[in-house]
Amino acid sequence: MKWSEFPKWGKWAADWAANYHAGLRNRPVRAQTQPGDVLNALPVSPPDQAQPIEDVIADFERIVMPGITHWQHPRFFAYFPSNASPAAVLADNLVTAMAPQCMLWQTSPAATEMETRMMDWLRQGLGLPDGFSGVIQDSASSATLAAVLVMRERALNWDGNASGLPGQKPLRIYCSDEVHTSVDRAIWVAGIGQANLVRIPTQGPLRSMNIKALEAQIKADLDAGYLPAGIVACVGGTGTGACDDIAATCAVAQKYNIYTHVDAAWAGSAMICPEYRDLWEGVNQADSIVFNPHKWLGTQFDLSAHFVKSPEALTQTLAIQPEYLKTHGADGIINYSEWSVPLGRRFRALKLWFMIRAYGLDGLRQMIRNHVNWSQDLAEKLRAAPDFEIVTEPVLSLFTFRFTPEGQDADQATMNLLNAINDEGRIYLTQTRTQGKQVIRFQAGQFDCTAEDIQFAFDVIIETAKSLKDT
Ligand code: PLP
Repeated sequence: MKWSEFPKWGKWAADWAANYHAGLRNRPVRAQTQPGDVLNALPVSPPDQAQPIEDVIADFERIVMPGITHWQHPRFFAYFPSNASPAAVLADNLVTAMAPQCMLWQTSPAATEMETRMMDWLRQGLGLPDGFSGVIQDSASSATLAAVLVMRERALNWDGNASGLPGQKPLRIYCSDEVHTSVDRAIWVAGIGQANLVRIPTQGPLRSMNIKALEAQIKADLDAGYLPAGIVACVGGTGTGACDDIAATCAVAQKYNIYTHVDAAWAGSAMICPEYRDLWEGVNQADSIVFNPHKWLGTQFDLSAHFVKSPEALTQTLAIQPEYLKTHGADGIINYSEWSVPLGRRFRALKLWFMIRAYGLDGLRQMIRNHVNWSQDLAEKLRAAPDFEIVTEPVLSLFTFRFTPEGQDADQATMNLLNAINDEGRIYLTQTRTQGKQVIRFQAGQFDCTAEDIQFAFDVIIETAKSLKDT
């Protein structure tokens, strides 16, 4: 394929994308394929001869599309959302055509300076003070890894990279059971070891770390010769939306000179609405915060916003300058690759610029408020329905519930309900366990979701439960 043919196929792709989105409600949300279907439909060996793009497109429809789970479906209520907005997709198309590699200011000045400005727009949007600087990471997992590496280096007096961990006091990182597994992986990769990730028990309606237990553990660790290095707190944990008390956590961290990272991967987007900010009260005191605009703000995967009080701590941990990466004669510039683990970086800030301008913060706020209100309405309807129990109350637009028909094991009945709903495919939900109970998670967050889609979800849940009860 030549660039001269691109306008024809680019137009085809744009029409395809618009039609795809317009027709999503007619598709099952979850892929209906069996393991191996797509793999077996793909030739075992690559072609030696060029093939017409028409054939590739026909195979795309035939082989690929049936194997897609539709994250952009308005009735996708599983996991967390992963939105693509048309404005951000347009920006990504432009970026893909230019394909710049934005590791250094010099290799893409526009990407670097756009990133600086967009991260500051986001900072203001979230109501964070101007003491925070931002960088775009590819994922929240990468941001958390970067933060844990800073915890390690800072605690080791910036000598861990040089000397390694042997011979050092064992480091300790603290978090609750509600944090995402990306924290465990960061601990493994940083060489700190799972045994030194200390779980603090949770309490209260938001399943927050027990602050007294946190402080007692830090003191005990100090007495036992460990080196407390960091706390990872969560706002909007993956399972049930748990939120730590950020103000109290940061107060303990400051008392013991410990670095604090706040993982608000999902819930952070909602902080553009001032009325939800009490969920992370005290966040101004944190050292590091991550949230994912690729989840609830419509800048399709991948775009993770990482704010830090001290960029110097990040660069002291991660910057490395072999001769070929030196930008001679360019003083005072930012090379964002020094703020992250990967060297290469895409031009992600452009889609933030397009998206924020195309919707305005008010447009985005309205969308998030709608999701929260509709989801809370659904929780009330399910609470009032026979045989349903709300297990965790809504945190923003996420709550959990279970099916409790009389005479049946509720865990089993709940899983039967979930599987029946997902196999049928009109809506998509996922499960978790909390308080020793099997529960179904519900979250609303897809950009095209309407109040009718939430009512539709209620009807599907009730109808499916009834049919299971009758059989
Ligand atoms: N933190 C939380 C609270 C999450 O829910 C998730 C994913 O859903 C992550 C971190 C990991 O995000 P990413 O896929 O951007 O690494």
